[in-house]
Order: sequence, then structure tokens, then C-alpha cells
Amino acid sequence: MTEQDSSPEGFRAGYAAIIGEPNVGKSTLLNGLLGQKISIVTPKPQTTRHKILGILSGEGHQIIFLDTPGLITPKYALHEAMMRAASLAMDDADLLILMIDGSRSRPPDDATMAALLGQLQQRQKPVYLVINKVDLVNKDSLLPLIGQYAKSFSFREIIPLSALTRRGTETLVEIMVRDLPLHPPYYPLDIISEAHQRFFVAEIVREKIFLKCREEIPYSASVDIVEFKEREGGKWFISADVYVEKPSQKGILIGKKGAMLRAVGALARKDIERFLDHSVFLELHVKVRENWRQDEEWLHRLGYTS
Ligand code: GDP
Ligand code: MG
Repeated sequence: MTEQDSSPEGFRAGYAAIIGEPNVGKSTLLNGLLGQKISIVTPKPQTTRHKILGILSGEGHQIIFLDTPGLITPKYALHEAMMRAASLAMDDADLLILMIDGSRSRPPDDATMAALLGQLQQRQKPVYLVINKVDLVNKDSLLPLIGQYAKSFSFREIIPLSALTRRGTETLVEIMVRDLPLHPPYYPLDIISEAHQRFFVAEIVREKIFLKCREEIPYSASVDIVEFKEREGGKWFISADVYVEKPSQKGILIGKKGAMLRAVGALARKDIERFLDHSVFLELHVKVRENWRQDEEWLHRLGYTS
């Protein structure tokens, strides 16, 4: 079977990673593209090995944006963080976007940038250079920058745009879609659905559990959103059951006098509020369900299988 045969409608879908230093405008671009305040960081969901930042579905295409963790972690040296993030992204993504700030960019021969470009070069994937914030610069300074970068790397495309005013962002999407593999959609196309919100809210909670208890509860927690109430003029109410496999894990997750669960809840709530762009009341309950991973029906209920 050729690729075409397995995707008869010519649907294109794939993963993209945006790599760039802090403040170049990655979140702004994503928020603009996704039309919603999505800048969450999810762990590896059990349905896929990728960490997903947002999903852009359109006519005949679906682009899944991967997170590039490390870039936003100040405790790492920038250089190391960029390498790490780039390396993860390069493993997982079909398309790579290197984003720079057109109004104050490192030159391509700067040590950090050169090392990053070297890493990108080794992969057989399309790399786009997105020069952001063109609303702040005039053409006279933009052209030399484009020239420098074009000389230093064989980018698939160089796309100047403004994530803020959204000038040029459509073009970026068109170009990406053109380069996506023929593949059926990985996720449901109705991204803004409540089911989708629930999925991400559950993933955020799972991520925080993983962050706080990664040794003790590695990937063995699952999260079931049992209530999701949008209330006019007030906080939204979200109640989630967290399932672990052993009573000992329940103890760890709850912590001394509930301290661990409170910490997880506080972290999760912050990201959920950013994701939903609304304040929420988050309630977490920990339950034990032995061997839930083996239970097909349960997995289905949690949305891990179709
Ligand atoms: P990130 O750290 O790469 O995710 O960057 P952010 O998206 O948080 O943006 C950092 C800052 O740059 C914010 O103050 C944005 O408003 C601003 N910014 C992002 N894109 C643009 C742009 O196209 N033009 C201008 N003028 N500012 C932008
Ligand atoms: Mg950001």
C-alpha cells in the first residue's frame, strides 16, 4: 500500500515543534493560531509518546504542536536547555520551526545558535525559520538578517511574520500543511469541544502528579474528570478522580496531611486557568484501582482507546 492508499482523502497530519529562546513569541504564535489561550505543557500522554501543546485542525489537515520543555526552565543554562529541547523536538516532530526575534536576534554564528543549527542540520526534517516581530523592524534591517541565516543553514522556508498582529501566520500554516505527511487525523477534529478541554485538563493534572511524584508514581496515575461545570460570573468547577494502582501510591499522592495533593492541585489549577482562560475551583480525589492499565473498558471510559 502506498501512503496515498492509506489516506484516500489526502488528509495531512503531523507533529510540529517550535524551538526558540524565551520571549521570541512562541506562545503568542500558538495562541494566535489556535484561537484560544493554550500554552499548557502536557506530559507524555498515554495515547502517544508526544508531549502536546495544542492541536490545530483545519480543512484536510491537523497540526499537533509539541512542547519543547527546557526552553522555559531557567535552571538550565540556556545553551543546554536549547539543545535538550531541540533534541526532544527533533525526535518527535515531522516539522521543525526555529523561531527568532527579528528585532533583537542572535546572529547565526553565535555559539548557542550555531550549535542549535548544527543539531538541526543532522535531521532529515523540514526546518522553517520564523522571524517574528516584524512589526517592530523595518525591511532594511530584516533583509540582512534573512541573508545571514539563509547563508548559514538550508532552511526549507524563511518566514517573516508577526505573531502579535498575525501578519504572515496564515502563510506559515499553508506552508506547513504542504509539508505534512499524508496521514489521517491523530485526534478528533473538534478541538474546542468540551471533551477536548476535559482531555487537556486531565493531562495537566497528570503532568503535575508526574512532576511532583515521578519516582513513586511513574505514569501509573490516570485522571478522570467527573465534573466540569462552567458557571456564569463565577469560577468554573472541576472535580477529578485520580486513580493510582496501589494503596501505597495513594498515600504518597495525598501526602502528609494532604500536603502533596494540595501542591499538585495548586500547580494544576494555575495551568488549567491559563488553558481555559478562566478561574476555576479544582477538586481532586485519589482512588485506588488495581491494574487499571489492563482494564480495557476502563481505559475506554478514560478516553485512552477509541
Ligand atoms: P515565548 O517566551 O517565546 O513564548 O514568547 P511570548 O509569546 O510569551 O512573547 C514574549 C513577548 O513578546 C510578549 O510580550 C509578546 O506580547 C511579545 N510578542 C510576541 N510576538 C510578537 C510580535 O509579533 N510583535 C511584537 N511587537 N511583540 C510580540
Ligand atoms: Mg512561552
